[in-house]
Amino acid sequence: MNEVRWRECVSYVNSNMESAVGSLYVREAFPGDSKDAVRELIDKVRAVFVETLDELGWMDEESKKKAQEKAMNIREQIGYPDYILEERNKHLDEEYSNLNFSEDQYFENGLQNLKAGAQRSLKKLREKVDQNLWIIGAAVVNAFYSPNRNQIVFPAGILQPPFFSKHQPQALNFGGIGMVIGHEITHGFDDNGRNFDKNGNMLDWWSNFSAQHFREQSECMVHQYGNYSWDLADNQNVNGFSTLGENIADNGGVRQAYKAYLKWMAEGGKDQQLPGLGLTYNQLFFINYAQVWCGSYRPEFAIQSIKTDVHSPLKYRVLGSLQNLAAFSEAFHCAQGSPMHPHQRCRVW
Ligand SMILES: [Zn+2]
Repeated sequence: MNEVRWRECVSYVNSNMESAVGSLYVREAFPGDSKDAVRELIDKVRAVFVETLDELGWMDEESKKKAQEKAMNIREQIGYPDYILEERNKHLDEEYSNLNFSEDQYFENGLQNLKAGAQRSLKKLREKVDQNLWIIGAAVVNAFYSPNRNQIVFPAGILQPPFFSKHQPQALNFGGIGMVIGHEITHGFDDNGRNFDKNGNMLDWWSNFSAQHFREQSECMVHQYGNYSWDLADNQNVNGFSTLGENIADNGGVRQAYKAYLKWMAEGGKDQQLPGLGLTYNQLFFINYAQVWCGSYRPEFAIQSIKTDVHSPLKYRVLGSLQNLAAFSEAFHCAQGSPMHPHQRCRVW
């Protein structure tokens, strides 16, 4: 499937020279004080994840304690690695010293990139793992959890509207980047992440009781999402098994971010309204949560995605997680028994 030419080129250059593009992007578009604001949001959402463990009847105290330790030990990377902003670009020059591009040799330039990429990854073999290495460029609109580092990463690219801005209402920030933060934290406790301990080693820290119940709680979401039939993909059903980890993360993330927002308000936070909409703060939170996942698919791409994407289709990421959250039906007054206020709800975290 071909992208528009400029898009193809930009993403090729960004994925092959992420530090150089990241450097240009951050200098041009990333406000320096965003780092601190995002760090504060991470601390708030993490605190809610830990407090919420108390509500879980399916987990015993022993495993809750371990989960708390793991959550508190998650390390974070925000924005960009400092070396890409060095004044004379010493490290950047070194990083690209093997590359000699020419304007009229597109194919050969591509070979150089492949060679440099292979050398970069082979160099890591038999070397001590560099815990501070950034696993992704700064100009990327995405976020990550790395199970074997127990680390969350938020590149500068995602720290912009609609996810985050210090000029937009906090309801939007919590519903945007706040939810993404909760999503990434919860990945440490989904069906894959839960197999790693607080140091990123594959180690079973679960009691039999909690592990058994984790599987039962998850089962509910496997069925819920597996029942969505997607019009754009010939009405095929979502695969509830392969999307489970992402669905667990979505559900945990939006719940934690919402609670963190309420807590921020209760502690005296003053939010701004969006003029002309007549929405409450709580409604605004959910509006931005849905807004950041707003998108469309060509039918061909939908048919490919439903077989290969570990995320649920965008609209079910929103509907599925909000059907499970009582706070949503309260904020929008959905009658009991209506689709967004179902009799049965699923919950893991
Ligand atoms: Zn995810």
